[in-house]
Amino acid sequence: MKYFLDTEFHEDGWVIDLISIGIVAEDGRELYMVSSEFDEPYARTNDWLAKNVLPYVQDGERFTRAEIAAAVKHFCSPERYGEPELWGFYADYDWVALCQLFGKMKDLPTGWPMFCRDLRQLIGNTRPSDFPLSAEKEHHALADARWNKRLYDWYTGPKEAYEVAVIDGFGRAVWHNLFKHFPTFEDVRRALADHNHGRSITAWKMLKCRVGMWPTVVPYSCRLGLPGGNAVTITKFYL
Ligand SMILES: [Mg+2]
Repeated sequence: MKYFLDTEFHEDGWVIDLISIGIVAEDGRELYMVSSEFDEPYARTNDWLAKNVLPYVQDGERFTRAEIAAAVKHFCSPERYGEPELWGFYADYDWVALCQLFGKMKDLPTGWPMFCRDLRQLIGNTRPSDFPLSAEKEHHALADARWNKRLYDWYTGPKEAYEVAVIDGFGRAVWHNLFKHFPTFEDVRRALADHNHGRSITAWKMLKCRVGMWPTVVPYSCRLGLPGGNAVTITKFYL
């Protein structure tokens, strides 16, 4: 069973103090708990936390670390749900915050992996901020955990291949330049096919609705010379 987790915490370079934890299971179950034991006055001295995280935990029930540990252990029970596979996004600190609920690393529940997988590594150079996904409340642990699951589902799920042309990096000018020289995608396709030794490109789509969003760019393909000395790099990515 896959679990997508996120924690909010206060870290000062020495201690990682768990504030809240959210976990979304592959089967749709959700867990969200706020700790009653984090050092709140100290956390309030962190302006970023005070602004971005603490407002989310002011209301609602709080739980001791032992209660959270028991709930997480139950939620991710290997006996009930199969071997856990945990995923975070930039997961290192989340993982430590989670593990320390149980004590030392060796105190992790039986049947748990002793590592957390990281969506950041899974998606490589993809820019997640460009995905058609966003946490409804960024830095709310459950909202972020939901976002993590959506990211995983999106990245690993069936995708439609697109071809897109980019000039001089990433920007709107790309499209203006592109359509200036190749008014239609059919023109681009033809030019690319010529350049690409006749290999046809089959998945062209008009992407004007996607301008400004630049998901995964999979290294691929060729550069196309343009009048005026510019060049278009044709890359392939998935939406
Ligand atoms: Mg978060």
